[in-house]
Amino acid sequence: MFMKVILHLDLDSYFVSAQRTIQPELIGKPVVITDGLKRSIITASSYEAKKRGVKVPMPFYEAKKILPNLIAIKPNFALYTVLSTKLFELLSNKITQKIQVASIDECYLDVTDIYQKWETPFKMAKYIQKIVMQELKLPISIGISNNKFVAKMSTQINKPFGITITKPGDFKEKFGKWPTNKIHGVGGPTNDKLKSIGIENIEQLINADESKVIDLLGVVGKELIKNVNEKGSDTIDSSMNDLKGIGNSMTFMDKDRYKRKEILEIISHLSNMVAIRMNNRNLSGSVISVSIKGINNTGKSVVRKQETLIRPIKTFDEIFKEATYLFDEIWDGKGVKFASVRMTKLENIFNNSYQTSIFDIKNEKTKTSKIIDVLNSKLGEKTLISLEEAEKTFNKKQHQSRFVENDRIVKRYKDLKKYK
Ligand SMILES: [Mg+2]
Repeated sequence: MFMKVILHLDLDSYFVSAQRTIQPELIGKPVVITDGLKRSIITASSYEAKKRGVKVPMPFYEAKKILPNLIAIKPNFALYTVLSTKLFELLSNKITQKIQVASIDECYLDVTDIYQKWETPFKMAKYIQKIVMQELKLPISIGISNNKFVAKMSTQINKPFGITITKPGDFKEKFGKWPTNKIHGVGGPTNDKLKSIGIENIEQLINADESKVIDLLGVVGKELIKNVNEKGSDTIDSSMNDLKGIGNSMTFMDKDRYKRKEILEIISHLSNMVAIRMNNRNLSGSVISVSIKGINNTGKSVVRKQETLIRPIKTFDEIFKEATYLFDEIWDGKGVKFASVRMTKLENIFNNSYQTSIFDIKNEKTKTSKIIDVLNSKLGEKTLISLEEAEKTFNKKQHQSRFVENDRIVKRYKDLKKYK
């Protein structure tokens, strides 16, 4: 059977390591990332502190009791985003383009066709650790296997700055005794359910009656069974990590669309996909573009328009509103067979909160709407809306003609100039 060679890369206590690149005097010292207020929670801990029992998420004052000389550093999300992008660019330039970004400090590489250059996957991993350290001053741990799940589990074995290979067939022996909550994606509720049918460790899950687990957990159960039996996915999905932008497009295979409402339904779907993907990566974007392809095109086949917004946006509502505006500007009223929505100039949402206050745009998300966002992203579409939002939409519809400009969430530069 043909086996792939998959690497999982995970930066070691990333936020701390990132800070150390600009403050090398922190190297070797017990450091945590927290905003330092009395009740604050620790969001990252250096290995020096972890060894002494300072764990994430622990309140800072408790950690301070364990380690009085603990150094607290405030989060710096701009730095984390910049360094993380540099890492993925370094890997795709020097190692392989077959890269799947999993989070701000994690990715998978498919090195099946190239590891021979370094003789073995292990030597290749060593080389990756070396160049990441040399060029970015960041320590990284690497797990190697023939699929993504086992590679990711392997990374945890030897941290920091470790390399762990799990050969096909070795998973059960290596991880059998691990509690199920150490499986990526098995959170509290799933773990409790597994416990309720007597499954507490990975070996028990491997030996369990599959149908029982699937009855209990549905799709998640199916996925789990596949993963622990070493049959998890080995496909690198790089469609999700266009590092410079996030876009979704659709060619209408079934029929061309002629009505504005029909085309906007597609634009709405595409905007939602973009919003979900941005949400998954904690990104917002300040340039939006819409492209459409008409049926009777002579000359230029795709019409495209983009605009720069005065502040980054990220929610479905914001993206859809902007996309609708752009669509109306480029649409000639004729049939359309392709549409795309794309956001670029991406940045981490944690570093643009200041802009909200500068322009005093009342867009502070309420707790409820944040929860709704998360649920919608899990459900895969905009299924839920808040009552408040529903009422707003209703009112908007009634006032559409009068307030059409005021409706726009983001004012354009030209609007802003009026105030200068
Ligand atoms: Mg990490």
